[in-house]
Amino acid sequence: MKVLTVVGARPQFIKAAVVSHVLRKAHEEVLVHTGQHFDYNMSEQFFRELDIPDPDYNLGISGGSHAEMTGRMMIALEQVMIREAPDWVLVYGDTNSTLAAALAAAKLHIPICHVEAGTRTHSKTNPEEINRICTDHVSTLLLASTKSAYEEMANEGLQGRGLLVGDPMFDAFLQYSNKVDPEEIQLKLLEGGGREVPSQYYYLTCHREENTGRDEDLLEIFKATDLLDAETVYPVHPRNKSRALRLIKEYHFPNIILTEPVGYLESICLVNHAKKIITDSGGLQREAFYAEKKCVTILDFVCWPETMVDGRNELSQPNAEEIIEKLGHPQKIEQKYQPFGDGHASEKIVDAMMNYEKENN
Ligand code: UDP
Repeated sequence: MKVLTVVGARPQFIKAAVVSHVLRKAHEEVLVHTGQHFDYNMSEQFFRELDIPDPDYNLGISGGSHAEMTGRMMIALEQVMIREAPDWVLVYGDTNSTLAAALAAAKLHIPICHVEAGTRTHSKTNPEEINRICTDHVSTLLLASTKSAYEEMANEGLQGRGLLVGDPMFDAFLQYSNKVDPEEIQLKLLEGGGREVPSQYYYLTCHREENTGRDEDLLEIFKATDLLDAETVYPVHPRNKSRALRLIKEYHFPNIILTEPVGYLESICLVNHAKKIITDSGGLQREAFYAEKKCVTILDFVCWPETMVDGRNELSQPNAEEIIEKLGHPQKIEQKYQPFGDGHASEKIVDAMMNYEKENN
């Protein structure tokens, strides 16, 4: 079986790493990096740390409007797909790279396997929602990470092509946790220089268009850190680096440790040792859940409903008082409750493609 995997953004490198290691034991993989994330600490660092083979193709496409980026990716991916003639195109999640690959493959009649299918926020303002819906509708195999995502498919008549396999992010978390100690981490400050991770800290990630498009929202999130009883480690995504730096300089938030993006091993280490998590990232919400850390998600829609139980993850507006109030709510941990699978989603993803081949050829 020849699988052409398309990745482009940080969370996709993590999922592709665990699946790729299984896939390459018995099958051929052609790895295509669209170039959507390109900074060393948003891309290459993940390939090195997670031992992902170098991409066979790097398309170098990033920036521009959504349509521009997606269109340029489609044109370049079509050429690669024609040349490689794979049995499958494998895509992850909900980025423009996911959508571009799915549309290009669908028009070439190449079967598409979509990992993280069925996930829905039901938010019209969430740009990733369009990518999820369109990708699912043209995909051949829809692999859901959770039961609720699998059930969502029924609402759109997709369940016949769906399968519940579990979450490859959970596989990665289990495989890569505890590879580094917090004392080993040197945070690279955005202002230059380095510093160690404090013994007590909150972990903040925030980069979604919804929260970083206006000063007001990011300012409120920063104000919340002033009200916390420890410093906040905040690795800043390139998307909102200049705004974050400017606001910190203008308003001065002494509790925020503003750093360059950290590597994946460092990030899950920071999750595992944090007091609590504040985020707008789909991946980090789940990692907080795996690590049993209280999480407040600054979004007005739910990405992963299974985390929103027993006070474990709560939504908040970008409002300092609300964030602090929600962080203060207790959480209850039900040890047997593990809605993200058994840590073997990667094997199930590869098996799903193989079984489909056997049944349909
Ligand atoms: N992450 C990382 N370095 C950072 C911040 C986050 O490695 O500086 C990891 C995080 O632990 C999670 C993933 O990146 O595994 C989440 O990616 P992101 O927030 O970019 O995307 P989303 O999950 O929102 O799609």
